[in-house]
Amino acid sequence: MTEAVPLDVDLALLGGGGAASLLLAALDRHGVRDLRIAVVDPVRRRGQDRTWAFWGHPDSDLDPLLSASWRQVEVATPARRRLLDLAPLRYAMLRSGPVYDRAAEAERRLDALRIVAPAVSAVDDGTRVVVRTGDGGGVRAGWVLDSRPRPPARPGRTTWLQHFRGWWLESDQPVFDPARAVLMDFRTPQPARGVSFGYVLPVSDRYALVEYTEFSPALLTDAGYDAALIRYRDLLGLDPAGLRVREVENGVIPMTDAPFPARPSPRVVRLGTAGGATRPSTGFTFSAMYRQADQVARALAAGRPPVPDPAYPRRHRWMDAVALRALDRGGVGGPEFFDRLFDRNPAERVLRFLDGVTTPAEEIAIMNSTRLLPMIAATAGDAAHRFRDRLRPTRPAAAIPAAVVGVPPTVGRGAGSEPG
Ligand SMILES: Cc1cc2nc3c(=O)[nH]c(=O)nc-3n(C[C@H](O)[C@H](O)[C@H](O)COP(=O)(O)OP(=O)(O)OC[C@H]3O[C@@H](n4cnc5c(N)ncnc54)[C@H](O)[C@@H]3O)c2cc1C
Repeated sequence: MTEAVPLDVDLALLGGGGAASLLLAALDRHGVRDLRIAVVDPVRRRGQDRTWAFWGHPDSDLDPLLSASWRQVEVATPARRRLLDLAPLRYAMLRSGPVYDRAAEAERRLDALRIVAPAVSAVDDGTRVVVRTGDGGGVRAGWVLDSRPRPPARPGRTTWLQHFRGWWLESDQPVFDPARAVLMDFRTPQPARGVSFGYVLPVSDRYALVEYTEFSPALLTDAGYDAALIRYRDLLGLDPAGLRVREVENGVIPMTDAPFPARPSPRVVRLGTAGGATRPSTGFTFSAMYRQADQVARALAAGRPPVPDPAYPRRHRWMDAVALRALDRGGVGGPEFFDRLFDRNPAERVLRFLDGVTTPAEEIAIMNSTRLLPMIAATAGDAAHRFRDRLRPTRPAAAIPAAVVGVPPTVGRGAGSEPG
C-alpha cells in the first residue's frame, strides 16, 4: 500500500495554544494573506483555561482584550507593604478566552488548515519538513513553528517549578481595590526549600483572582493548595461567609536553567515554553511569546524566514541561572531577594529586567542591589558546575528525557525528527 502524499503548506504550526494563538493573530494583523498555513493540535483551545498577567506599555492591539489593568501594584513582605507606581508601564490581566477567539478569527481569515490530531514526528531535510500526525495524515511544510510542550534538551543545574492555584472570588461586599493589584505578597508562610507568595488581581471591587504560588522543586497535594489559599484568604481579611469561588485555576510552569533549543533544525523553530520563552527566574512567558509572535509575523510579511530573536539575551539566562542557584542553595531568601530588587530600583526597571529588555548598565544596577556575597557564591558555583559539565565526555543517557531522543537518522536527516 502506498502512503498518502502529504499536503504541501508554507507554514505548519505544531501546537495551537498560547504561542500559536498569538502568532495567528499577529499574522492576521500584519496582513499575511498568501501563505498556506496548517495548525496541528489534538485540542481546539477555547474558553478560559488560563489567565495571563504581564506588564508593558499600554498597547492598542492588546488592550481591547484585557479584563483589567493597573498602574499601581503592591509588593508585600512581613516587614512592609510597598506600593509601586509602574508608569509608564501597566500590569495587565488577559484571560485566555479572548486570545483564543481572536486566534480562531485570524485562522479563518488566513484560511488555515486545522488538523485536530497530535503531531507525532517532524522530519526536516533542510528544504522541507514532513510532519506526520496521529490520524495517519500529515503535511509537508516549508517551515515548522513548534510549540508542543517538551522537556528541555538536558536536565538543568537547578530545576524548580512555579506551581499555583487561584480562586476567582466573588464577594457580596466591595472588598477589593480595583485600582491596584497585589503583584507579590510574601507574607505567606515560606516553604523549607523555595519561595511562596500570594497575589490578588481584582477586576472590580467584588471580583478578583486570588492566587497562591510557590517557586520550589516539588508540587503540593490538592489539599495543600486549598489549605494555602484558605490561609492567604484569611491573611487578606476576607470573610468566607460573603465569598463564592466562581472558578479555580491551576498551573505548573518550569523554572530552570536547562536549555530549550529554539532552532533544533534548519526549518524548525520552537516557540512558547518549548522554545525558551519562559523566564527561568519568574515563570513569566507571555511578553516574550507576544514579542516573538510579532517578530515572526513581521518577518513573514516581509518575505523573510520566520525566525525570531532569542526569547531572552544570553546574559539574562546566565543571571537567571545564578539567581535560581542562589535561591535554591539557600544563599538568598526569596522575599528578601525581591524586596531588595524593588527597594533599590525603580519598579519599571525591575519589570523591564524581568522581561529581558534592560540595557547592560541597568543590569549592573540590578545586580548591585542584590546581596553580594551569596550572589558571588552562586556565580562561582554556577561556573564550577558548567566547568564540570564541560569535562564530562558524554552526558549520561539517563539524564536525557526519552521524549527528546529523535527517531533513527535513517528517516530524513534526523536533526529535526522528534516524537511528539
Ligand atoms: C494556568 C496557567 C497560567 C499561566 N499564567 C501565566 C501568566 O500569568 N503570565 C505569563 O507570562 N505566563 C503564564 N503562564 C505560562 C505560559 O504563558 C503559558 O503556559 C502559555 O500558555 C504557554 O504557551 P505555549 O504555546 O508554550 O503552550 P500551551 O499554551 O500549553 O500550548 C501548547 C499546545 O500544544 C498542544 N499539543 C500538545 N501535544 C501536541 C502534539 N503532539 N501535537 C500538536 N499539539 C500538541 C497542546 O494541546 C496545546 O494546545 C501560565 C501557564 C498556565 C498553565
